[in-house]
Amino acid sequence: MMLHTVVDPATEEAVTKVESLDAAQVDAAVARAVAAGPAWRAVAPADRARLLRRFAAVVDAHVDELADLEVRGSGHTIGNARWEAGNVRDVLDYYAAAPERLFGRQIPVAGGLDVTFREPLGVVGIIVPWNFPMPIAGWGFAPALAAGNTVVLKPAELTPLTALGLAELGLEAGLPPDVFTVLPGKGSVVGERLVTHERVRKIVFTGSTAVGTEILRRAADQVKRVTLELGGKSANIVFADADVERAAADAPSGVFDNAGQDCCARSRILVQRPVYERFLELLEPAVTGLRVGSPAKPDTGMGPLISAEQRQRVSGFVESGADAAGRPVDVAFRGHAPDGAGFWYPPTVVLPRSTADPVWREEVFGPVVAVLPFDDEADAIALANDTEYGLSGSIWTRDVGRALRVARAVESGNLSVNSNSSVRYSTPFGGFKRSGLGRELGPDALEAFTEVKNVFISDE
Ligand code: NAP
Ligand code: MG
Repeated sequence: MMLHTVVDPATEEAVTKVESLDAAQVDAAVARAVAAGPAWRAVAPADRARLLRRFAAVVDAHVDELADLEVRGSGHTIGNARWEAGNVRDVLDYYAAAPERLFGRQIPVAGGLDVTFREPLGVVGIIVPWNFPMPIAGWGFAPALAAGNTVVLKPAELTPLTALGLAELGLEAGLPPDVFTVLPGKGSVVGERLVTHERVRKIVFTGSTAVGTEILRRAADQVKRVTLELGGKSANIVFADADVERAAADAPSGVFDNAGQDCCARSRILVQRPVYERFLELLEPAVTGLRVGSPAKPDTGMGPLISAEQRQRVSGFVESGADAAGRPVDVAFRGHAPDGAGFWYPPTVVLPRSTADPVWREEVFGPVVAVLPFDDEADAIALANDTEYGLSGSIWTRDVGRALRVARAVESGNLSVNSNSSVRYSTPFGGFKRSGLGRELGPDALEAFTEVKNVFISDE
């Protein structure tokens, strides 16, 4: 039996060991999920709704427990971790309304009655990354279960604890066995098998664009359905007519939340030239004032990175990085980080010399933000769209017309105006371009977990 040691990123101490499953164990779990399918889809809509509401209530009763697990096992700040556990509850509650509202259509035709049904897909495989173990799991399993699918879910190898906890809470709430199973293990083993297994009808993948692209390629062999949530390099656009104080005060939360390990991180800040210097002056105290330290303390603003490997990756863009011309990266200023054990990295603001610099183009996935000036609206839009990604972004302006024009012009799935918040369980979430395929959350997600069936009934 293979074991993976879960490490506390803030202390580097072992938290616990979790079994890494092999392909045969995955096959057995998928077979059980297939077998559980017919009974699960036959549960009356109101009863399935009730079970999901009960699941939400049990999660609610364990928010603190789940949050503590995420603090120790993933290094999330306690405030974030509580929000994340609460988000799973809210997403379950939201999709608990779905079983009784999965409406089909009645379409006028000659000679009888034509109706459509929203049928479940079967077994849905969900592959989750380490950056938001709870929300990303819930965004997949809640609508999948609501639509009558059974679910097998692979957490990231680094962060399996809360997913395992959620599966237990589902059973406690009364979900039948094998309807929702968590399969810890390696992406190259468990994830791979879910993608190639014929009876897994759909893959929901969140993670790197590289792995997501490969999964899309492999899924083509079986015309397997996929939803992909991939990387980002989102722009935070600050116009000269904006409330620059607010834009600067809020910019750190837009990129350093979860230590920058967020696909929605606004890691490129574009500032209109007349307020560029002023913005940087205001940004500096907001960054140096960020409390970086023990994620268990309630006043901590930023915790550690997930692993030594991730810290290495991040510093590869700064300390050991270079601009496009090979010169050292220009660090404008940076905040604090503890010394000693833990995968710490200080919040860092860099000034790229050109849009070809790696720190401007590539997803760093750490607490590093690059700031560039721009001239006018057209320049801002062109800079924002000069990326293969298109996940989120922000627009700061007091001009409503400009806000609307820029929001329509930026090629991105989730934009906010005079705000850096992009995630609400009741609104669709997903990416343009290489940031993904399909939408999660909100009313749209159910389409991703059902197949439309058309039935004609003759009146003869
Ligand atoms: P990753 O390799 O894409 O991993 C994401 C998930 O896919 C994990 O559960 C992983 O399992 C699994 N996986 C890996 N290879 C697989 C394969 N061949 N088939 C099926 N599943 C597979 O991401 P990462 O290595 O954790 O992070 C690398 C970079 O990806 C980050 O630095 C960041 O740039 C980006 N990233 C983006 C997001 C996002 O939300 N958009 C999230 C995480 C990472 P294991 O954990 O067991 O390897
Ligand atoms: Mg990987």
